[in-house]
Amino acid sequence: MSDSEEESHPYQLLDVDLRVKEVLKTTPLFDGHNDLPQQPRAIFHGKIHNNPKFDLEAGFQRCMTDIPRLREGAVRAQFWSVCVPCIRSAENFSTPEYSDMARDAIEQIEMALRLVHSYPRVFELVREPGDVKRVYESGRIACSIGIEGLHMAGNSIGIIRAFYILGVRYQCIRGLLDFESMIIDCSHVSDACAYQVLELSRAPIMFSYSNSRTTFNCARNVPDSILDRVPANGGIAMVTFVPEHVSKKRKDATMDMVLDHLFYIAGTIGWDYVGLGSDFDGIASVIPGLEDVKCYPALMKAILDRVRRRNS
Ligand SMILES: [Zn+2]
Repeated sequence: MSDSEEESHPYQLLDVDLRVKEVLKTTPLFDGHNDLPQQPRAIFHGKIHNNPKFDLEAGFQRCMTDIPRLREGAVRAQFWSVCVPCIRSAENFSTPEYSDMARDAIEQIEMALRLVHSYPRVFELVREPGDVKRVYESGRIACSIGIEGLHMAGNSIGIIRAFYILGVRYQCIRGLLDFESMIIDCSHVSDACAYQVLELSRAPIMFSYSNSRTTFNCARNVPDSILDRVPANGGIAMVTFVPEHVSKKRKDATMDMVLDHLFYIAGTIGWDYVGLGSDFDGIASVIPGLEDVKCYPALMKAILDRVRRRNS
């Protein structure tokens, strides 16, 4: 929204809390990055059925994500992220360690699918962009899967294609190019790699969880020279709540700092190219007010409050 659109919109006349409700009623809130699938795999070795300690529908306070909080947070579409650490010592992507990473990734994808399929009244896996609207209108949460780093593909195009068949729709690349039908996530890549992707990709790219490097200097955040190219590509930069991406010391990170990134990126390339990618259940510490998936209405309210303050 531009400032003039903002002023002329009928919601402008409503109280902020009511506006948040109205916006969330009619607009699917999409989060680009949530690492929940790794949690039940790590905590329960993947045993999520007939497990008295795990019921996402009843609530799972040990993590940042469960169904009651997704509902409270008005989340209506989610990329579940698959994360297997990359061993830095191994340079060649075809050494045996990478086969292990591919196995771990496939197990996490299977976990994500089992989570989705275990709660059919709540979740549905989407395979095509058009599915999102249908699932949204059905009242369920549209789910897709992202892979956090192509080291997990073991240097195999066949595995990337298999990931796609399993439902993966974005992959963060680390050195591999030349494949189709998959969104490229540039959140973990070097600047040189992001330039190459923008040069070569025929489809929109995404940053599933990155902030602005001008606002806070860290390697994972996106410099202006790359951000500037996102609109022409039709891509999106999804602002993240990772404390280390907004502040030198975790404990100093605030929601206001996250807003600084949102507003900076929106001011630079436009609101159409800004999203949210929380990294919930992939982070060890959280920002006050952005602790779990129920946070989005409060974040929306803070965004609208800032717009109102700017306009008055
Ligand atoms: Zn992650």
